Amino acid sequence: MIDGIEVDAKAGATIRSAAETVGIEIPTLCWARNLNPANACRLCVVEVEGTRPLVASCSRTVEDQMVITTNSARVRENRRSVLELLASAVELDWAESELVAHFVEYEARSDHFDGTKLEEASKIHDDLFAREYSRCVLCYRCVDACGDQAQHTFAIAIAGRGFESRVSTEFDVRLPDSACVYCGNCIAVCPTGALTPLTEFVMRTESTWVQERQVVTHTVCAFCGVGCNLELHVQDDNIVKVTSPSDHDISLGNLCIKGRFGWQHLD
Ligand code: SF4
Ligand code: SF4
Repeated sequence: MIDGIEVDAKAGATIRSAAETVGIEIPTLCWARNLNPANACRLCVVEVEGTRPLVASCSRTVEDQMVITTNSARVRENRRSVLELLASAVELDWAESELVAHFVEYEARSDHFDGTKLEEASKIHDDLFAREYSRCVLCYRCVDACGDQAQHTFAIAIAGRGFESRVSTEFDVRLPDSACVYCGNCIAVCPTGALTPLTEFVMRTESTWVQERQVVTHTVCAFCGVGCNLELHVQDDNIVKVTSPSDHDISLGNLCIKGRFGWQHLD
């Protein structure tokens, strides 16, 4: 039973996925539909009757007769604290990010805890994307997407310990000098705006990125025969970004450099 609703879940389903089948959304930062749970953010915690600590719903599997509460006062308070602790260390200036949406939902205060923000200059080493780790919450999504859960390139990892932890290329080399193949699959899963296509980064910096003026057209990538699905984000008749649906059974949200960044010939 989840929030008073009887749920007929499949064996091995997680609490999060079982809740989704009956329309209950549980917030997450480190979980993504096309990645394995990283168990890193603690935002998806829920109450399970008979279990004292809150449990991570992205990874805990359902059991027969479980009674689960996903949005109690205790759960909401816990999520608010997680968000407020994150806010003490990262920038929250990316208004349309998943992180900021959670902030609004849980009425979290960005000034509740004093902290030391990671001060790191924007990393723009090429024409394709921008990395701004001052917004990074170390959710591991990009590392997992680059590693054995999608891209198998292993260009990035978490380096350092404690406050020094950060996403880094091998030996912290510039991205063009790393193993990166510029698939952009790390950008696609980043929930905070720390990783963005350069088009979006430049338009947001110049205040010309207007989400309300954008339409999304679904199509199939024509570069090769794999059949990856594309979402063309178009503003004022110009493509400004390309993504791929994470629930599509061909591409699972992943693309290669051509599909994600090679649209200029259309213009
Ligand atoms: S663009 Fe692709 S290869 Fe490069 S760091 Fe991101 S996921 Fe890895
Ligand atoms: S850069 Fe984005 S996806 Fe990668 S760890 Fe930081 S917040 Fe997560």
